[in-house]
Amino acid sequence: MDDFFCNIGLGKKRSNDPTRKKRSLVDTSALWRQGQTLKIAFIEEDIDPQLKQGIIDGIMDWQPYINLRLVIVDFANDPGHIRISTVIDNLGKGWSALGTDALEIEPTNATLNIGVALEHEDFLRAVRHEFGHALGLEHEHQHPLANIPWDEPKVYDHYRPKFAGFRDELRKDNLTEEEIDQYIEEMIYESVLAKMPYEGYAGNRYDRESVMHYDFPNELTIGDWKIGKNTEISEGDKEMIRLLYPNVLPSPSRS
Ligand SMILES: [Zn+2]
Repeated sequence: MDDFFCNIGLGKKRSNDPTRKKRSLVDTSALWRQGQTLKIAFIEEDIDPQLKQGIIDGIMDWQPYINLRLVIVDFANDPGHIRISTVIDNLGKGWSALGTDALEIEPTNATLNIGVALEHEDFLRAVRHEFGHALGLEHEHQHPLANIPWDEPKVYDHYRPKFAGFRDELRKDNLTEEEIDQYIEEMIYESVLAKMPYEGYAGNRYDRESVMHYDFPNELTIGDWKIGKNTEISEGDKEMIRLLYPNVLPSPSRS
């Protein structure tokens, strides 16, 4: 089954964060500085220009709703804040460091990967979703008010094989097979089942239409609950990102 999952665990691993600290839905420590220029580089010199433009288009769909200025820089001269790779592997349809966690990643390494081809139906979804993480957004299905009626054993059975490709990554860290099993169970929990703590945040509503939401088949839930593919930046996403980065910048021609 070709559903969407993004390997945020890999972004966390790459950011060398051994504690994989618990995040709240909005963790202000992961947010970029209000009003700052956010520099985005493409790490692969030989990237197909159409693919590159497709990614830029998907990223820039966020621009009207934030007070950050998104700028593409040339990796040869400037590693930027966010570095994009386009490796298609068996580690999901993408991954990204969460917000400013990207700053903890070596300047020679990617902070965000788009793991689907330009022609894939999930391409724009993957770009918008992963860049949502890069702006500091967490998964919408983990919203404290989501209340999804999970059939938890089925969730683990469903996602375990999808994380299989991650085993080789973890073996490089000399973990035992048992430790790797445990790590994968934790990653499924952390990227699907765990609810973000509310921690006093009286922010936005849970939004089923969010691009930060995975699609889930009915089999993973108890009773009649499923959700399809969300490709667009939803009204809820716009509300949320405006809360995080208020006072949207004037257009560049006026500045
Ligand atoms: Zn994700």
